[in-house]
Amino acid sequence: CGIIGFTGQSQAKNVLLEGLESLEYRGYDSAGMAYFNDNVIHTIKTTGKVSSLRKKVEAAPKFHSTCGIGHTRWATHGGVSHINSHPHTFGKVTLIHNGIIENYHELETMLAAEGKHPVSQTDTEIAAMLIDHLYQGNPMEALKKTMEFLEGAYAFCILLEDRPGVIYCLRNGSPLVACHCEEGSIIASDMVALIKYSKEYFVLPEQHIATLTKDQITVFDINDKVVTPKMLYMNWDI
Ligand code: GLU
Repeated sequence: CGIIGFTGQSQAKNVLLEGLESLEYRGYDSAGMAYFNDNVIHTIKTTGKVSSLRKKVEAAPKFHSTCGIGHTRWATHGGVSHINSHPHTFGKVTLIHNGIIENYHELETMLAAEGKHPVSQTDTEIAAMLIDHLYQGNPMEALKKTMEFLEGAYAFCILLEDRPGVIYCLRNGSPLVACHCEEGSIIASDMVALIKYSKEYFVLPEQHIATLTKDQITVFDINDKVVTPKMLYMNWDI
């Protein structure tokens, strides 16, 4: 139950692993990350600690990625297993989730009627399936519709296969804070993951969508209107 997303100039894996380490206090049973490398999404995940994820990432063939998402899971739906750990991928969509999708069972039935079935036991994968189902080339349209369908608490960071370098975020009930700094754009469950990069940050308002690129973060309300978030300042030293 910790989330981090980064897109920018520097190596995403370092930002993601350090971010997840700072979020460890939130409690978790699995950890994972997904990133773009040469415009293709790759996923590395594991049960256990962030240190196990770090080992796996370091053992993987060398890669340079400047856009990725990272997660620590606190299992609520589906046991602690590799397949249930985040990120989850379905079709064009890879995402991480903090929270609980209350109506996942109804959504699963709806998607089963379209011949689509999950491979994990999580509520989260159903959200990935729903977004993939609704995504017909316009991310904002798909995400707005997704929010109409979903009931429950969520913070999502989403990668779309055909939008390399962009992170889409949704929030309802679970926390998300973000900042733009010299290295790029960062979003996380808690400002402890941001403080190394910037003292200025904002809270993504409830029921809003954020898009992160290396150059900027844009926040939209449910009517697709661009919103200027209220900037906050962390006045503590580390
Ligand atoms: N409900 C999701 C799951 O069990 C997300 C849990 C979390 O917030 O870590 O996988």
